[in-house]
Amino acid sequence: MHTADCQHDDHEHPGLSGRALDRALTLAERRCAETAERLTAPRRRVLELLLGADQPLKAYDLIAAFGEAGEPAKPPTVYRALDFLERQGFAHRIESLNAFVPCRLDGENHSAAFLICSCCGTAEEFEPDLSAGLAAAQAKGYEVAAVTLEARGLCPACRAA
Ligand SMILES: [Zn+2]
Ligand SMILES: [Zn+2]
Ligand SMILES: [Zn+2]
Repeated sequence: MHTADCQHDDHEHPGLSGRALDRALTLAERRCAETAERLTAPRRRVLELLLGADQPLKAYDLIAAFGEAGEPAKPPTVYRALDFLERQGFAHRIESLNAFVPCRLDGENHSAAFLICSCCGTAEEFEPDLSAGLAAAQAKGYEVAAVTLEARGLCPACRAA
């Protein structure tokens, strides 16, 4: 699932499969139960697709891949599920790509930062140290609700080649 122009192999694919995928979904179900939310079938399916992907997915990718037998979903089903997953901290939207990734840090509603490879299109999440920026915002009297940082460049696999 790499972009057409990436000629570099030897990528580590972060997409989950098999037991790792099952485990991640079970964890998500448990976290929903703790907050009295429900991981309904469409929400679970969208999360499953995000977790299994090796790069950010756009809403229309999710709509197309939604049905296990290949039939597409109704768009509102996917948009509502994405909304839920984002709100609960299971997924993040990468604005510059208009695409979604599962949260890899399983923290609830944390600030998110992504290293986006402009060659192969992978996006790796890391926890940003925003203390200086937030202090500056506070000094200006701002109350910051959320920050998403998007850094662009080349991933190790694409750099090495
Ligand atoms: Zn590449
Ligand atoms: Zn996250
Ligand atoms: Zn790359």
